[in-house]
Amino acid sequence: MKFIIDTLKFNEAGLIPAIVQEAAGKEVLMLAWMNREAVEKTLVTGEVWFYSRSRQRLWKKGETSGHVQKLKGFYYDCDADTLLLLVEQAGGAACHEGYSSCFHNKVKPDGMVVVEGDKLFDPALVYGNRPPQAPAGSSVLDELYRLILSRKAERPADSYTTYLFEKGIDKICKKVGEECAEVIIGAKNSRAELTYETADLLYHLLVLLAHQGVEPAAVYQELAGRKK
Ligand code: AMP
Ligand code: ZN
Ligand code: ZN
Ligand code: ZN
Repeated sequence: MKFIIDTLKFNEAGLIPAIVQEAAGKEVLMLAWMNREAVEKTLVTGEVWFYSRSRQRLWKKGETSGHVQKLKGFYYDCDADTLLLLVEQAGGAACHEGYSSCFHNKVKPDGMVVVEGDKLFDPALVYGNRPPQAPAGSSVLDELYRLILSRKAERPADSYTTYLFEKGIDKICKKVGEECAEVIIGAKNSRAELTYETADLLYHLLVLLAHQGVEPAAVYQELAGRKK
């Protein structure tokens, strides 16, 4: 018996896609991503765990909704870059929009979309009135944040980000303050300077978030939740 973790091909981000299928009815329920830890936790606990790219953390399916997935079968494909999980879906619904399957949007030959199936639950009641999934933020910001997190963990020499983390919270806050002032000055000078200084401010804000352990996704979610 081969040990699965050494066999699977995780992508550059350390993730592998997992298709989830209802073991009994064979309905294709959803697709989500797993990292090594999610694979291990799923095998050890017998309940399905994923890695949320938007929230950048492990996530047990059903942790909020109660719609957990009991593992019934674990397969990978020929080239070991895709997983297939057979599950027993609690609550009868895998999709956080309330449908049994995430694949409820049908594209007809004429390109028009029809929604198939009925909602089995009201997402607002199950997930609360906040938006169920943090909208994808700018991928540039998310990538920069991940880079900052790796600097925080590895502290390579000759890195300005390392320098900021070594100096600590007061230095980082001071830089955020300075960059705010530079944004204000830049705004009055030129659009180019406003652009440049805003980039500086965003970078330093991300360092501050990383230092304090706040994910950008939490900020996106807060902003999205304010929409009327
Ligand atoms: P749950 O795992 O059902 O408790 O849901 C927790 C959060 O995971 C939800 O708020 C969604 O952001 C996300 N989520 C749950 N189910 C899905 C799904 N099928 N596809 C994508 N995201 C999901
Ligand atoms: Zn494949
Ligand atoms: Zn869905
Ligand atoms: Zn989905």
